[in-house]
Amino acid sequence: MTFIESPRRRFRHRRVATGRGRLVVVRAARWMGVMSAADAGRSRDAAYKMMTLGLALVFLPVAFVVAGRRAAHVGCRWAMAFRFPAERLAGLTAETRAALEAARSRALWRHGELIGVTSGHRPAERQARIFADAIRREGSLEAARLRALPPGESRHVAGTAVDVRPVEGARWLERYGARYGLHRIYENEWWHFEYRPGGRPVLLPHPGVTRRPARSTVYRSNRVLTNAT
Ligand SMILES: [Zn+2]
Repeated sequence: MTFIESPRRRFRHRRVATGRGRLVVVRAARWMGVMSAADAGRSRDAAYKMMTLGLALVFLPVAFVVAGRRAAHVGCRWAMAFRFPAERLAGLTAETRAALEAARSRALWRHGELIGVTSGHRPAERQARIFADAIRREGSLEAARLRALPPGESRHVAGTAVDVRPVEGARWLERYGARYGLHRIYENEWWHFEYRPGGRPVLLPHPGVTRRPARSTVYRSNRVLTNAT
């Protein structure tokens, strides 16, 4: 799947400070033409953060009854299920899933940042289709490997990779994910993270290589690409 984030968005850690009902106000302002699309997007994201954090707080007492000391973690999980109802974490290895949930619980409670999963585990057949599409689109095997990997090499198939959104959440994960064993892997994919508890891996320019060439094409992190690796 493809999604677009504005490259001009700035990465800021700040506590959420918007009021309830902001979504309604944002939509009205957009409709009346008094707010730009970029401003509306930022305000909408801020409103989602606020709403998700509010939901997590509402869930906290029940989560405490159910999960005791893990209440914050469980409250976050329930709130995330409302914010990202379409995401699927099934198929990720237990360690990857635990690391992701621990990381995004901290992101939410500590900095009010949301981390949603757009793609987690993929069956080998699906990855094979993605790779075949990439070959068709890019025109050659070599070019396709810059965008997608065959099933035998994709960490999505292994259940240890996740593609995340929005870009602020990805930046949070890039900054703090190492303590959970989650790392960004490619310069040209800000959304793609892998669970590698052995230590921070070298940032590679793109999929299809296992080490940094001496001189390589460096992709801008906010380029709009298909997140298919
Ligand atoms: Zn990916």
